[in-house]
Amino acid sequence: MTIPTKQTTSQSYRDPAQLISALYIEDDCQELPLTQEILSRTTLTPTIISGRSELPIDLGPYPHSLRQGKRHLLLCRNRGSFFKPCPGTREYCCCDYQVLNIGMGCPMECVYCILQAYLNTPWLSFFMNTTDLLAELDLAFKRTAQFWRIGTGEFTDSLALDSLTGLSRLLINYMRDKKQGVLELKTKSVVIDNLKDLDHNGRTIVAWSLNAPAIMAKEEIYTAPLAARLQAAVQCAEWGYKLAFHFDPIIYHEGWQDGYAETINTLFTTVPAEKIAWISLGGLRFLPQLKPIALTRFPGSTFFHEEFIIGLDNKYRYFRSLRVEMYNHILTLLRRHAAEHTCLYFCMESDEIWQQCGFQPGQSRSLPDDLDQAFQHCT
Ligand code: SF4
Repeated sequence: MTIPTKQTTSQSYRDPAQLISALYIEDDCQELPLTQEILSRTTLTPTIISGRSELPIDLGPYPHSLRQGKRHLLLCRNRGSFFKPCPGTREYCCCDYQVLNIGMGCPMECVYCILQAYLNTPWLSFFMNTTDLLAELDLAFKRTAQFWRIGTGEFTDSLALDSLTGLSRLLINYMRDKKQGVLELKTKSVVIDNLKDLDHNGRTIVAWSLNAPAIMAKEEIYTAPLAARLQAAVQCAEWGYKLAFHFDPIIYHEGWQDGYAETINTLFTTVPAEKIAWISLGGLRFLPQLKPIALTRFPGSTFFHEEFIIGLDNKYRYFRSLRVEMYNHILTLLRRHAAEHTCLYFCMESDEIWQQCGFQPGQSRSLPDDLDQAFQHCT
């Protein structure tokens, strides 16, 4: 079966949670408050299971199971830890991000999504034991004096299922009095209703991933169109939230210069620049295993056929000259519009690349401090 392209779905964009067609609950999660909340918000009849191995999902050949799995949601316990440093690579400059793992998998379909190769289950999992999650955060905050930028968008999209789970409210309320940290909710959806009327105390940043229009149209299926993402950002700014944007992955394609320029112009004519704490840039990079999976699932996508080198993190990335050309083009446009306090930075690039793109020698090494400063100075 063919996966629809964005062109066929953008007119009928809908809340990604509505894409879920089957719900499963592990038996020891049935009585947990978050499970009960989710059940009160859905018309789906859940299947109760006693363990993941009993999931009645047709695993079939891999691509089919992944497509089908994105419509199946398992409510379960996280039996591991919720909170870990982002698995950055020592060879590249890292921003010291902390990952809060609220669930695995995403109902949206980005062709380049690393989760296709990274996760070992095709269905979506969402963790119900939020008491354990908050206890782990409490302990972590007690043990450090470090300022933490915490994100939930590493193994899933932060808000794609939020109309069903309402987890954003729990996390935003928790972070409200945490002077040692900030929560970043990163999304390609526009599911922001739960963020309204919260006393967030400025401790939550709402962030959107952006791309050139052609990439958003063709390679980001079931995601919100650019105009909708930016309108949602404006609404969040009016509710007092600070904002962030991520140009990641930057993808080489015909007309990329004009494409990224168009998105950046639309961004700054729509969103108040002073509300933006940071904007990141990251060129396309991917595990070798991703390419065959993505090309089987999305045979019409051509960007994987460009030339790549294997980076120090064992991921494919564009040649340095092309990365620098693309970064310099985009940075020039961003520097024209961005507020003085907004931190522009690279995700996982070397010090040499930073310097070739107009940053001071050593500036990459102060990235964690610069991001913290940008957060403090953003109004
Ligand atoms: S929105 Fe993010 S998590 Fe979801 S499919 Fe796209 S890249 Fe993957």
